[in-house]
Amino acid sequence: MESTITLGLIGYPVHHSLSPVIHNAALRAVGIQGTYHAFEVKPLPEGQEDLIDILEKLRNAKLHGLNVTIPHKQTVLPHLDTLSPLSRAIGAVNTICRREGQLIGYNTDVPGFLTDLWIHHSEFWDRKRRYALILGAGGAARAVAFALLATGWHISIASRRYTQAKELSNTLKSLQSDLFQILSFSEEWESVPGEIQTSFLLSSNKMRVQAIPLDALTRSKQFSPLLIVNATPLGMSPNVSLSPLPEDFIYPKGTVVYDLVYSPLITTLIKKAKEQGAAVVSGIGMLIEQAALSFELWTRIRAPKVSMYQAVDVALRGKAKGG
Ligand code: NAP
Repeated sequence: MESTITLGLIGYPVHHSLSPVIHNAALRAVGIQGTYHAFEVKPLPEGQEDLIDILEKLRNAKLHGLNVTIPHKQTVLPHLDTLSPLSRAIGAVNTICRREGQLIGYNTDVPGFLTDLWIHHSEFWDRKRRYALILGAGGAARAVAFALLATGWHISIASRRYTQAKELSNTLKSLQSDLFQILSFSEEWESVPGEIQTSFLLSSNKMRVQAIPLDALTRSKQFSPLLIVNATPLGMSPNVSLSPLPEDFIYPKGTVVYDLVYSPLITTLIKKAKEQGAAVVSGIGMLIEQAALSFELWTRIRAPKVSMYQAVDVALRGKAKGG
């Protein structure tokens, strides 16, 4: 590792991102001299030149690692030399490393989500039948859906545009025969807790995934998932009063609600679920886990998760006070 390193995030917009807070805290905590910057790269075609320029800097060792966020998780793919099988399967990269002059794309959202879910609810994997409902069918839903299917869950994907959920469910089903290869040859999969890494293979289940329209949740009383994951931006600051589930939704007994939104920490969804006695998990844990794995891929040093968590907690509390 060089004596001073420069890491960064590309996306648009990026001014609100907590990644600089998390990674600068991590660099300080492990004593690496370096900085992490947020680089604004506009959507293509406008941002094309900036995107190529910044990837060239990484290739020429002027930068030492990059995160990628919306809208570039897919647009960077053709510019990379290699993709981990996991990021290729998901069709999205959120971390880029340079190894021997080559740019390699990874996806740490999948292991980040699973690791955090395991930390909070490892008992789920004692259950023979695990059923989850995922709200939304965008990039984050894709990572969450893959993560759950790969560890033996049955899932329903609910989106406001039914075709989006249907397409995602078809894509996921098409990955079934390659799952073993995808997981075995993806470096980022190695960070997933060993206890659940093989759960799909052990369960010898077929990938069971179905698509449903989001508004069907208002009518149907048949849903009794163990886990509900919000993978829509509903409830995220500044639209804090919104929730992906209808006002009169009845949370099944024993359901855990996992909200990927972490700003604010207590979303309307989490508040409502708690009021009805459901257990809740905020997206902050996944945020830290995916960041920690990116940090480890770049530096080969164990990520100081406690320092990373403390830094983001302070930042979010500051935001909540309007700071
Ligand atoms: P995305 O690719 O834009 O997908 C968003 C999904 O939500 C789409 O299916 C979208 O449907 C749906 N949606 C948006 N507005 C909606 C509305 N008003 N009603 C119903 N559905 C709506 O975004 P993403 O990357 O998946 O991110 C989703 C959320 O997860 C964001 O809040 C992001 O911050 C969070 N996230 C958190 C973490 C973490 O580490 N905790 C990691 C990744 C993402 P349409 O296409 O029809 O709009």
